[in-house]
Amino acid sequence: MLNLLIFGPPGAGKGTQALKIAEKFKLIHISTGDLLRAEVAAGTELGKAAKNLMDNGILVSDDIVVGMIDAKISNNPSANGFIFDGFPRTLPQAEALDNLLSNRGLSITVTLSLEVDEEELYKRISLRGKMSGRADDQDKNTFLKRMQVYTTETSPLKDYYKKKGVLVSINGIGEIDDIFNSLCKEIPA
Ligand code: ADP
Repeated sequence: MLNLLIFGPPGAGKGTQALKIAEKFKLIHISTGDLLRAEVAAGTELGKAAKNLMDNGILVSDDIVVGMIDAKISNNPSANGFIFDGFPRTLPQAEALDNLLSNRGLSITVTLSLEVDEEELYKRISLRGKMSGRADDQDKNTFLKRMQVYTTETSPLKDYYKKKGVLVSINGIGEIDDIFNSLCKEIPA
């Protein structure tokens, strides 16, 4: 079973590439951002609690996102594998994911880290904000907050996966299909 992580700062292209990888390798795509936005759209209690945090670039609590991931894995018992997008974002989330997987006799096959510089990220996020109307993409201060959260909370996970020997870094600037091909080369068939 193939269990992939797609890793990178906001706007790195995780969602775009994760969808393409999920299709090619027949994996279930799990995006915590998408799951949370669905809760907000449905007006659930969880969504109400998450909206304000998300609009301000602050992380939702580890318990909530870990619970969502646990449910998604359990609901797909015959999956070929999973691609996790936007998760884990903190060390406790990474440890929880290891436990969720190892309890099922699974582990992470590879962590694909998309490398994109901050100037390019901001260009992409502002464009996405105009097209999608996402509140967290439309405000420069929210972008800066997300970058700060990424740097302090999320980027240390690169070391965590490097130590496990499963980290691969890929240049995330260029044509979508070229980046996709570079990613595919790192995924065991
Ligand atoms: P991006 O990849 O562009 O940063 P996402 O769509 O993945 O955006 O996430 C948007 C927001 O949803 C985050 O800023 C955060 O508030 C919340 N979120 C998503 N995933 C997580 C997570 N794993 N842990 C905590 N909060 C999360």
